[in-house]
Amino acid sequence: MILARENISKYKIQDYLGRGFLCNCGREHSVDIEKVVIENGAIAKIPEILIFFNFKKIFMVADENTYNVAGAGIEKILRNGDFELYKLVYIREGNLVPDEKAMGEFIINLPETTDVILAVGSGVISDLCKFMSYKLKIPYIMVATAPSMDGYASTAAPLTINGLKTTLSATVPKAIIGDIDILKNAPMDMIRAGFGDVIGKYSAINDWKLGRLINDEYYCEFVSDMVMYSVKKCVETADRLQKRDDSAIRNLMECLLLTGIAMSYTGNSRPASGSEHHLSHFIEMVYMFDGKESPPHGIKVGFNTIAVNYIREKISELNPDFSEVTKKASEFDKNKWLEDVKRLFRVSAAEVIDLNEREGINSYDKRMKRVKRIIDRWNEIVEILAEVPSYNEIRDILRKIGAPVTLKELGVDRETVLNGLVYAKEIRNRYTVLQLAWDLGVLGDLAEEMGQKFYV
Ligand SMILES: [Zn+2]
Ligand SMILES: [Zn+2]
Repeated sequence: MILARENISKYKIQDYLGRGFLCNCGREHSVDIEKVVIENGAIAKIPEILIFFNFKKIFMVADENTYNVAGAGIEKILRNGDFELYKLVYIREGNLVPDEKAMGEFIINLPETTDVILAVGSGVISDLCKFMSYKLKIPYIMVATAPSMDGYASTAAPLTINGLKTTLSATVPKAIIGDIDILKNAPMDMIRAGFGDVIGKYSAINDWKLGRLINDEYYCEFVSDMVMYSVKKCVETADRLQKRDDSAIRNLMECLLLTGIAMSYTGNSRPASGSEHHLSHFIEMVYMFDGKESPPHGIKVGFNTIAVNYIREKISELNPDFSEVTKKASEFDKNKWLEDVKRLFRVSAAEVIDLNEREGINSYDKRMKRVKRIIDRWNEIVEILAEVPSYNEIRDILRKIGAPVTLKELGVDRETVLNGLVYAKEIRNRYTVLQLAWDLGVLGDLAEEMGQKFYV
């Protein structure tokens, strides 16, 4: 099947699955997921999906909560069929962590010659099972219990190894089942988190466009459009999320899955993650260093989208002068940068410094090459920056669904967020609006301004 940009509004998720298609961007896009069922009462379809794949010996994995809301019901359905069912239900005092202990329990309980892992849960269960599936070469089917993040359909598993968050390779599920009757009853904070992750795509896609313009990075219009179409659809029904309206929950879940598929299409997380995610990772990292837990991923992403869109607005109001920007570039204090990176990134500092040295991201030559492009194509940059909703609009949408929009509501300290604005860009070599602000020599001033305006 050939997919075309002009038909995006007509496609259903199923149209995006399976076999690859040659895209105008020059690449062939494909995803290994074969089936997606998002509907009311979807868990009743699990037996026929298992039969379709010829899976008989099933290892169901859940935690106490997800077992109660979905696992027990699935067990009942499967016990009535011609299946051999084994299960692991993680019992924890607090939250389940996808660490060595959880993986050990997984291996100990896994029956030999298992046909399929049936993962029942959200973020952590999904991350554990997709990683184990990858390592053990046993396929898995995902039964999502909350529309809380976009990782269900992605090939990356954020795990906690040696106490540190590490992203490892993983496989996508053979099938994803989202029962609206279960998804809509997820804790409201998980629904808000999922929506925060969705609203962050405005920024992620925008950063991707900046990367193409300034660094000649690979970019796909089809993927960008398919994500944005779905984001807009989700935003249109956002005010019904708090009422747990079926179609609002469906739009949210579909958008989260489509973003995951988009990542498979491009082979990286560009369509899903930009400056708003880097800021979120920064906060998470600093909190982890101190042994503290930060707010859920999507909650942070949504919150940060307000800030990065503010930066977009402020940059578009500039009228950069080449000689002035060049002067700022020559004033860069590498020693201060090194000191700050060591202080903020602690055990990860060496990795950050190494990445910067290797790629020369902050080197004078590379910066000046970008500055030249930025000044030459300033009008196009301003046009791109204007494509996102204003920071006020983002704040209003988040407020409408009851998500945090102030530091106090978020529960993260001011210093960490302000440090993040300036240093989160060092986490990855990926062009974003934060790098653009730095290239123009205005990032520090903007962070200070935001400290006085927002983060009081
Ligand atoms: Zn493409
Ligand atoms: Zn995310």
